[in-house]
Amino acid sequence: MDQQTLAQLQAQLHAEHDRILAELKSIATPSTDAPGQWDAIYPKFETQETGSEADRDDEEDEVEEYEERVGAKSSLASQLLAITHALERINNKTYGTCKTCRNPIPLERLQANPAAEYDIEHEPK
Ligand SMILES: [Zn+2]
Repeated sequence: MDQQTLAQLQAQLHAEHDRILAELKSIATPSTDAPGQWDAIYPKFETQETGSEADRDDEEDEVEEYEERVGAKSSLASQLLAITHALERINNKTYGTCKTCRNPIPLERLQANPAAEYDIEHEPK
């Protein structure tokens, strides 16, 4: 892979990293006891209602929103980790090769997903 292509993919990875990190930070906070892990933020909806009925509805909405955040942050955190690993592989000069067979990953595949770790043959299902 030539340097210019590598630099483009690296820029793509950095941009993606920042985008995902911003999204993650809006719904989760870094875990204090597990580095690299994120804890979903429990939503607290502002409400003017004082009736018990409305409070219960809000609680249900909060729980629902929280569960969505737990799912979303897991997916974002794993994408972020994959990007971090890809950037590490660029530093280690092992970027762009399949982790299983060490063959080069096709460029068009990397351009579609710069964090790809496997060629098509060895992509885990
Ligand atoms: Zn392979």
